[in-house]
Amino acid sequence: MTIKELHALFLEHPHICTDTRKITKNCLFFALKGPNFNGNKFAQEALDKGAAYAIIDEEEFKTSERLVLCDGVLETLQKLATYHRKYSSAKIISLTGSNGKTTTKELIHAVISKKYRTIATQGNLNNHIGVPLTLLSIKEDTEIAIVEMGANHQKEIEFLCSIAQPDFGYITNFGQAHLEGFGGVEGVIKGKSEMYDHLISQNNSIFFNADDGIQKEKLANYTKKMGFSSSDHQYYQIKFLGVDPYVSLEVEGTQINTQLVGKYNFTNCCAAILMGKYFNVPLTDIKTAIESYRPENNRSQLLSKNGFDIVLDAYNANPTSMRAALENFSLMKAKRKTLIIGDMFELGSTAAEEHQSIADLAENLHFDQIYLVGENFYGTKTSLSKFKSFDALKEHLTKHPLEKASLLIKGSRGMALERVLEVL
Ligand code: ATP
Ligand code: MG
Repeated sequence: MTIKELHALFLEHPHICTDTRKITKNCLFFALKGPNFNGNKFAQEALDKGAAYAIIDEEEFKTSERLVLCDGVLETLQKLATYHRKYSSAKIISLTGSNGKTTTKELIHAVISKKYRTIATQGNLNNHIGVPLTLLSIKEDTEIAIVEMGANHQKEIEFLCSIAQPDFGYITNFGQAHLEGFGGVEGVIKGKSEMYDHLISQNNSIFFNADDGIQKEKLANYTKKMGFSSSDHQYYQIKFLGVDPYVSLEVEGTQINTQLVGKYNFTNCCAAILMGKYFNVPLTDIKTAIESYRPENNRSQLLSKNGFDIVLDAYNANPTSMRAALENFSLMKAKRKTLIIGDMFELGSTAAEEHQSIADLAENLHFDQIYLVGENFYGTKTSLSKFKSFDALKEHLTKHPLEKASLLIKGSRGMALERVLEVL
């Protein structure tokens, strides 16, 4: 079957499933392979559960008309996504960066959907499977699609751009995330810039943060760009008003009071506002969209429990976002500031040095109490309280309960520090 024929089948059955536990009636099942499973083995089960067709790539499993044999299920999914993307008239906005992609994507979605029929990446489905699935969620009437692209190695963004062929792009920042796979900060800049390279090669438009020296320099010779800045009047002006504890800002004389903690969320909002402006969303709608947005999934959430005021940022962590969170917490007006931070993963050979530098920063910022959790932090030279594992911290907090305080909880996903809430 050619991609064109498969696309015709897809138009009749526009829902895609890749997991037999989540089959929906009349879907197209793509029998992907993983390190521990072979989707081909589940294809018949997918049909039995209601899938219209299943796409497979091993001949021995082709036992019915509704099992469609192709040359590689993943590659076929990716090619189908590109075909569909070209077939659709939707404009594609892609975004990548080290931190804040999902938050920015959701803010852009909130703003743009005020005026246009918009789809966006679901949750964090931002890889070589998630990007095709996002493109395949573009409907007949979709006007704008917002596609998050994640990467932890060189050439991944280039590849995802070749699949999505974006019309517009934005890089949130170049930070110290996934240093191991990228090969240091220079590697991160190079890897993320593959999105700029792609957009420039197509003469497509780039949104950027003109207050970010690296972005400004990378785009110095490119004209098809739109920037925001809180200082440079050459660019769209957005003024940072403060974080108390939520970010507020001013644009064209209109004040916007967000429900986002953390100064780092200012630039995430700026990107969404700039795009709203570019696509002619009225400023009053931009304001409502940004003010109504609340983060989920333990991403910089502010909550209260048993007398504790908590900034829960346990979704993920890397040196850049950890530093930003610590600095932000130190500026917040709060009583008895208590810091509970966990290990940052994927740092490769720089892990010891980066954990030491965060431990030193925490000590210098003078919080009332500090708890470091995880093997990496345990290995730092510090006078702060440190615990080898979450269980060790839990045991300590059970014996010595925390007094009512303001808490910042942050660590890599694998640390699952939201578990701290159970011991308050
Ligand atoms: P992932 O790599 O998991 O897809 P992401 O880039 O999508 O992450 P978000 O999920 O939006 O990022 O945010 C995760 C955390 O990163 C936030 O809770 C916050 O601590 C931090 N963060 C968000 N925006 C920024 C930013 N602009 N600069 C630094 N840190 C940020
Ligand atoms: Mg994300």
